[in-house]
Amino acid sequence: MPSVPPLGPALCRLADSFLRQTGRNHSTTAAAAGAAVLTGALLLAASGSASAQTVDPTTPGSSAFTAPHGAAPASGLVQVAGPSPYTLPSEQYSAQEYVAVAANLLTEQAAEPQPEPAAPEAPAPAPAPEPAPEPAPAPAPAPAPAPAPQWSAPAPGAPTSNPYGVRNVHYAAGYHTGVDFAVSPGTRLLAVGNATVVSAGWDGAYGKEVVLRLPDGRYAQYAHMSSISVSAGQRVAAGQQIGRSGNTGNSTGPHLHFEIRSANQYGAVINPIAYLSARGVTDF
Ligand SMILES: [Zn+2]
Repeated sequence: MPSVPPLGPALCRLADSFLRQTGRNHSTTAAAAGAAVLTGALLLAASGSASAQTVDPTTPGSSAFTAPHGAAPASGLVQVAGPSPYTLPSEQYSAQEYVAVAANLLTEQAAEPQPEPAAPEAPAPAPAPEPAPEPAPAPAPAPAPAPAPQWSAPAPGAPTSNPYGVRNVHYAAGYHTGVDFAVSPGTRLLAVGNATVVSAGWDGAYGKEVVLRLPDGRYAQYAHMSSISVSAGQRVAAGQQIGRSGNTGNSTGPHLHFEIRSANQYGAVINPIAYLSARGVTDF
């Protein structure tokens, strides 16, 4: 097998060839050749084994780019870029100085210990929501006022003791011109309808008497009363008390003699029970 020429003589021959082209002296050339030999040996050694000086950028923990908490290089020792071809508006600093300053600022900022993030404070207990104000109860609708009665019995609940129209020669008209209600003295007597008091006072055989003018132009007469509580010209409402029953005048006993007249004069009478019954009055 042909022998491999020694490395040193081969390099020397290469250096001689270089010197012949450049014209430099041999001693300088020899020194340069020696440096080249040393450099080559280092390169060979580096490529021949996995030296600790070799940094594999993919090894976790050995690279600032892959390690989760790679140590930031000390400020001022970071070369982040080569000389920049760009020109700066200012002649004071070179482009690289600008870049280096910026990089230092960044690394210093990154190297500063960051304060531990404060543990999230326990959320303040939310204030108890105020109870929603209860809606004010809707005012109960006022009960519709009961419709005022338009008609009433003269002595509610009292039975009749002598009906209207009974023939009797002792009456001036020859018949009973009203209806008698059997009531004890002092019984409350009520207006049978909304009316105006026509007269209130003594009236001969009728004793104490009240006459009302009703809305339809008819008249209601109350006779033999013990007391009177209204006066002529007064407006009264149906059911309003006008006085009390008695036994005054030409009377044979306590009772209410009651008439309905078509005109305010003796004998112009109609059946009072029929009249009130036709207007819804039933309590007699
Ligand atoms: Zn009578």
